[in-house]
Amino acid sequence: MKRVVIIGNGIAGVTAARYVRKYSDYDIQIISAESDHFYSRPALMYIYMGHMKYENTKPYEDFFWEKNRIELVRDTVTEIDTDKRRLTLLSGRHVLYDVLIIASGSRPNKFGWPGQDLEGVQGLYSLQDLELMEHNTRDIKRGVIVGGGLIGIEVAEMLLSRDLPVTFLVREEKYWNRVLPDEESNMVTRHIFKHHVDLRLGVELQEILADDRGRVRAVKTSSGDEVECEFVALTAGVHPNIDFVKSSNIKCGRGVLVNDFFETNIPNVYSIGDCAEIVVENPDERNRLEQLWYTGRMHGEVVAKTIAGTRTEYDRGILFNSAKFFDIEYHTYGLVNFDTPGEKSLYWEHPDGARAIRIVYNDECVIGFNLMGIRYRHGICEDWIRRKLTIEQVLKQLHKANFDPEFYEQCEDAIINLYLRSHPGSSLRPRRKSGLKAMLFG
Ligand SMILES: Cc1cc2nc3c(=O)[nH]c(=O)nc-3n(C[C@H](O)[C@H](O)[C@H](O)COP(=O)(O)OP(=O)(O)OC[C@H]3O[C@@H](n4cnc5c(N)ncnc54)[C@H](O)[C@@H]3O)c2cc1C
Repeated sequence: MKRVVIIGNGIAGVTAARYVRKYSDYDIQIISAESDHFYSRPALMYIYMGHMKYENTKPYEDFFWEKNRIELVRDTVTEIDTDKRRLTLLSGRHVLYDVLIIASGSRPNKFGWPGQDLEGVQGLYSLQDLELMEHNTRDIKRGVIVGGGLIGIEVAEMLLSRDLPVTFLVREEKYWNRVLPDEESNMVTRHIFKHHVDLRLGVELQEILADDRGRVRAVKTSSGDEVECEFVALTAGVHPNIDFVKSSNIKCGRGVLVNDFFETNIPNVYSIGDCAEIVVENPDERNRLEQLWYTGRMHGEVVAKTIAGTRTEYDRGILFNSAKFFDIEYHTYGLVNFDTPGEKSLYWEHPDGARAIRIVYNDECVIGFNLMGIRYRHGICEDWIRRKLTIEQVLKQLHKANFDPEFYEQCEDAIINLYLRSHPGSSLRPRRKSGLKAMLFG
């Protein structure tokens, strides 16, 4: 019987295990260091905020694994010997495999800042980090967050849920502007200020200063300020967690190098999820790291098919993602802010400044949606993008995508009116009159 061993019980590894079980009768073992059972990493913040208990973040009952003949081992893999098809574990045990899947996830970035290893300074990735954060934020007067991405804003929300003042250092001039277009970025920036976060844009961490017990007492910033604090969260992105792979003959770059089938350079060794670096043939493009929950799940499903005998190429399909900036939900489908040729964008913002819709299109078809504070049905937007509907075809039936019937009566007409302002010859008509303020960006 073939023996499939998976390193990592995150969404990628666990999905692979579930689908290998579905498609085959192979022996399956998952070795993971962090937790006995799979849990939802994006829910970490809710445990800290008291909205959920750890038990509630586990998508499967504990009996699920035995019932599905998936053996779970709590240990750390320290070495991979691909000639002997053998893993060495921290406990000293050895494990043999026929097929190996490396799904070891990410680790928070540290950029060599002076003081980055002081007591009270940490990243947020694992359950152990969460526990440390519980400890590190007890009785503090201020927390400083370094790095303006999605985890940074989550940590801000976590601290504020305990009424702890927050200073948020963001290197960019606008919040998450690498991903969000200017208007959405401005909206989130206003929202962060509204929550009384001391947000400092265009400011970098210079140094973390210690007190006489070796604990953080302040940070120095690139603008010359010193901010007193007892806790520093380093949230400047993550990188693949692959140190233990590097001593093997499995090729690595930023992550474990794989092709579109998640195959490494070694037969029967695969890598998926955050730790995999998908090699792109086009020399003008950078290899892809896909560090998202839903892509990890897709990787797991695809690699399982290959392992079970149907070699299957990965097709990420139409991009999507979602997140939350305090109270503002964000959903994105397709290509937004990718600067594609001939790209135009219809941007409508609600007068409350906390809701917006952006439709990105070109002369032929609609290519992307950004929704802020409004939910649009994923399946419908994806279908429109896939079928290459024109902007007018989409506007005509935009109400079909809206999740919120109380709201759609107003905003779809506002968007159509906005479009008509720059396309007066169009035969498109609003469903009913709307006097909402709107903006157009071409
Ligand atoms: C706080 C936070 C919030 C997030 N929110 C979102 C979100 O809202 N939406 C979204 O799309 N993504 C989100 N992400 C990212 C998402 O969680 C990751 O993309 C996803 O969890 C990666 O899954 P994975 O299976 O590749 O790896 P992981 O979930 O990292 O799992 C890998 C596991 O492997 C174990 N491991 C590593 N090395 C070894 C070893 N040598 N031996 C044994 N075990 C090992 C690790 O301990 C870990 O448990 C968030 C991440 C964080 C940290």
